[in-house]
Amino acid sequence: MGTDVIIVGGGVAGLSTAYQLSRRGVSVTLVERQQLGAGSTGQAAGLLGQVRKTASATRMLVDGLDVVRELEAETGQEIFVETGSLRLATAEARVEDTRNHVGLGAGSELEVRLVGAEETARLLPYMKSDDVILASHTPSDGHILPHELAMSYAQMARKNGANILQNRPVRDVIIDGSRAKGVQTDDGPLYADQVLLACGPWAHVMAERAGQVLQTVGIEHVYLTSHPHDAYPVERRSPAVRDYDGRIYSRPEAGGLIVGIYEEDPVIRDMGELNDDFHMSRMRAAQDSSAVAYLMDSALHRFPFLDKVKYTVTQGIMTFTPNGCALSGTIPGVDGLFHTAGFCGHGIVQSPTMGVIMAQLILGEPCAYDLSAIAADRYFGASGLQARRDIEPKCVFAYAGHYGPAGR
Ligand SMILES: Cc1cc2nc3c(=O)[nH]c(=O)nc-3n(C[C@H](O)[C@H](O)[C@H](O)COP(=O)(O)OP(=O)(O)OC[C@H]3O[C@@H](n4cnc5c(N)ncnc54)[C@H](O)[C@@H]3O)c2cc1C
Repeated sequence: MGTDVIIVGGGVAGLSTAYQLSRRGVSVTLVERQQLGAGSTGQAAGLLGQVRKTASATRMLVDGLDVVRELEAETGQEIFVETGSLRLATAEARVEDTRNHVGLGAGSELEVRLVGAEETARLLPYMKSDDVILASHTPSDGHILPHELAMSYAQMARKNGANILQNRPVRDVIIDGSRAKGVQTDDGPLYADQVLLACGPWAHVMAERAGQVLQTVGIEHVYLTSHPHDAYPVERRSPAVRDYDGRIYSRPEAGGLIVGIYEEDPVIRDMGELNDDFHMSRMRAAQDSSAVAYLMDSALHRFPFLDKVKYTVTQGIMTFTPNGCALSGTIPGVDGLFHTAGFCGHGIVQSPTMGVIMAQLILGEPCAYDLSAIAADRYFGASGLQARRDIEPKCVFAYAGHYGPAGR
């Protein structure tokens, strides 16, 4: 039997689409340059905050949880951990934003309530909360376990007949006239009617090989994971925290705490220069880097107990776009070639619905979501967004503004 669709990339985006296509009876071959999860997926923290700025973006995340619950039922694997989450306002300029967050939640029928410093301290006894003016609490938020999610997609896709090839870098997209026909690997060509590039931070590199411009940039990101300590217990279901003014987020992890930072001056990674054996899990953040210094400064301020416990630092590469939204769909010029990338630090939690969307786009089926905000061709031919030197600073600006003081 021939392959209908080739998917390049074995992170959550490619695997989720493989799962959705295969359960619809489509013949899928997924090709991964390394092992499944060797890109951003294996490094992610997995925080899920469902309330977004638009109703459509919120709905994608809420619906995605239904897909996760189905996967949990199918595989017997826990994937989502409901902990609730807190967004802190520690500056007057953040208070209105926090109140708006409650309104956005109500508009999407999600329970979000305002809490004061006292209630915040009760919910998170190990966090410094005496400077909290107000916080919004979303009890149904939590985190998705990235490895478990990726492996569950893969397990179910295989069960549905998908062919998953690892250690097989794709060198090129085979284009006949103006139509994608397959991909070139060191072991020879693979042919299919349609090709999806789901290459994470490598997305723009692969798009260039097909003669297309994709406005993504790989940006380094760090978080720490504290080791469990009897004197400083972190309860498994204690709420995640988003401290925008301090640029940090946190969630419980195996008796310790993950704390990550969106620093103001991040480092761009040149994805084109990485070798075939590059595995993101082997990245090591320099302890004297400014990212680690900012992380420790902000993390210790909010969670003073971290001074007393051991921790490890995880580094990875996120994929950012100029406006913080993904790039999914086709770009004029090559028929049958699809892209999905640029999840701006939210690809784990977007992947369950993104797989449904990509399957519908590839099969030409109607889609229930407003795709204009995430269309892959929304910058097609746009001046100032075609050359790397123009794209990079805009994506860095989006990363730096993702967190940071209100009113920036
Ligand atoms: C430190 C860190 C923390 C994060 N925290 C969160 C979080 O809290 N919540 C959240 O939702 N998201 C988070 N993210 C983001 C999330 O990890 C990504 O958005 C998501 O994993 C993207 O999935 P992907 O499949 O698009 O990319 P990837 O996981 O990078 O997968 C792309 C795959 O394509 C493969 N590939 C590339 N080029 C080729 C080629 N030529 N041939 C074959 N294969 C190829 C790569 O090896 C890779 O496996 C975090 C990311 C990092 C780095």
